Parts: sequence; C-alpha cells; structure tokens
Amino acid sequence: MTGFTFADTQVAAVIGYPISQSLSPLLHTYWLHQAEMDASYSAHDVAPEALGDFVAAARDHGLKGWNVTIPHKEAILPYLDRLAPTARALGAVNTVKRTYDGSLIGFNTDGMGLMAHLNAAAPTWPQVRPALVLGAGGAARAALGALLATSCPFIMLANRTRSRAETVSKELGRGRVTVVDWDDLGLATAGAGLILNTTSLGMAGYPPLSLDLAQAAADTVVYDIVYKPLRTALIKAAARRGLRTVEGLGMLIHQGAAAFKLWFDEDADTGPTVFALAEEALKP
Ligand code: NAP
Repeated sequence: MTGFTFADTQVAAVIGYPISQSLSPLLHTYWLHQAEMDASYSAHDVAPEALGDFVAAARDHGLKGWNVTIPHKEAILPYLDRLAPTARALGAVNTVKRTYDGSLIGFNTDGMGLMAHLNAAAPTWPQVRPALVLGAGGAARAALGALLATSCPFIMLANRTRSRAETVSKELGRGRVTVVDWDDLGLATAGAGLILNTTSLGMAGYPPLSLDLAQAAADTVVYDIVYKPLRTALIKAAARRGLRTVEGLGMLIHQGAAAFKLWFDEDADTGPTVFALAEEALKP
C-alpha cells in the first residue's frame, strides 16, 4: 500500500512538495478538455521520502506521465529508465513520460518553454548581441541550455553567489558563458540584447530585483521568468524605460504544452484563452 491513489480516468499528474500552488492542473485539465479526452490530471503532494512510492504507484496505475517540480527535479533521476539529452545535460527533469513498453523517460521542457514563449512574444529579440542571465539555479541551467542553442554569441552570467555561476559556466557553458560580477550588472546591461532574470528575486515573498537599466540599448528585451506577481518590479522598471518586456507566465504555459505534446502527441493551445485562465487563477 503506497498511499497514492488515482482516479480511474487519471492519465497524468504533477508532483512537488508542497504542490497546492501549482497551475499545472488548471492548464492540463483545460487542454484535456479541449482535446475531448475523457481523462484527468491531478496534483500530488509527495514528500521526499515518498518519491519512490509515488513512482511505483504511478507505474502500477499506468499514468502516461507526470510533471515534476521542486524539490524532486533532481531526486527523480534514479527512478527513471532513460533521460532525454537535455535532461541528461541539465541533470534535472520536469516531465516524465511512460513509453508503450512501460519504461520511464525523463525530459526537461523548461528551456523549450522559455524559448517558445520568447520567440512568440518578442520574435525579433536581438540574437546578434550577448544575453545577460541572472541566476545560477535550476531555471538558469535550463535557460542557458536553451540560449546556447541559439545564435546568441555569448552569455554573461551573474549570480549573487558567484561560485555557483562559475560552476554552471564550467559544466554547461561550452566556452560561451562568461561570469559577470553581481556588482557589475549595470555595466553588463549595456551590451545585452536580452536580459533574463531567472533568480527568485521579485517573486512574492522575496525582495524585488532592482537593476540599473539606464545603459540598456533601446531594443533590448527584458524577460522575467518570475510570474507571481505577473508584472514584477523588474518588468515595470523595464517598461518605464521603454524596453520590450516579457512576463514569465508564458514560459510556464509553454513548458506545460511541451509536456502535453510528449504524452498525448497533441498540440496544446497556448493562446490568449489559456493566458486569461492562468492570470485569473493568479489574482491575489
Ligand atoms: P533555485 O534553483 O532555488 O535558484 C534560485 C536562484 O535565485 C539562485 O540563483 C539564487 O542565488 C537566487 N536568489 C535567491 N534569493 C536571492 C536574493 N535574495 N538575492 C539574489 N539572488 C537570489 O530556483 P529555480 O528553480 O532556479 O527558480 C528560480 C525562480 O524561477 C523562481 O521564482 C521560480 O518560481 C521561477 N521559475 C519560473 C518558471 C516558469 O515557468 N516561469 C520555471 C522555473 C522557475 P544564490 O545562488 O546566490 O542563492
């Protein structure tokens, strides 16, 4: 007896600890409905010591797959049979897919979600200039992996704890990631075509990210992956400065849509209706 139960119709899930704030059930339930599938998606609170039990229960039930969020993105690896190349490179999984023969494959769709949304919201973002990425956590790793696949010449990486940025640069950078001191951010913005916040700064309960944007070029795009609140202090400051801004909710929607495609081979709607649904749910 594992303690995890699933509705007969349940085909997919999200696990985390805690999980109550997740928007994934809202998004996937909408997409399943749109695809006219008589199927459900639910959230499961999975304590770290119960991860193995969840995987066993999900295998028994025959879930098509599940999303993985904090704190399980790395801890899930030993329970999987194979990793897709991006997940292997990042050492982190946000989507598990069960194949026809029952084996479990780990994917990471965060970087795909970021790029799909960036390319949709600001298709002319200046890829010919370097990008400035703030942060060196899991989201920064996914972002760097995705940005390194673009024609962006190099990436300036800054993190409060500089040593973490140096580690990330060494592990993933392929010689195209330069670590910039957190105190030199103002200068670094001058050359950047894209400024991307992947830190938790600006998120509800954290201090705002205050970045000197005075030297940023007029065509610079500022992307904040924090989506709670939807419009962070960084986004507001960039908009006041006249820069193009992109809010993080789209990354969340697109990484979910990529997972939906992996499980069901169906394109999920990432249009205004889905944004409106998620924005409504995020209202305080
Ligand atoms: P993480 O692995 O815990 O990394 C947190 C990052 O934030 C680290 O770089 C950390 O710097 C930095 N940080 C935290 N507090 C700070 C402070 N007071 N001053 C300066 N830097 C600070 O977290 P994560 O998984 O990368 O997630 C980061 C953020 O991205 C969260 O807000 C998360 O909700 C959001 N996110 C959004 C999406 C989306 O789909 N839009 C997807 C994933 C994550 P140190 O190394 O110095 O501690």
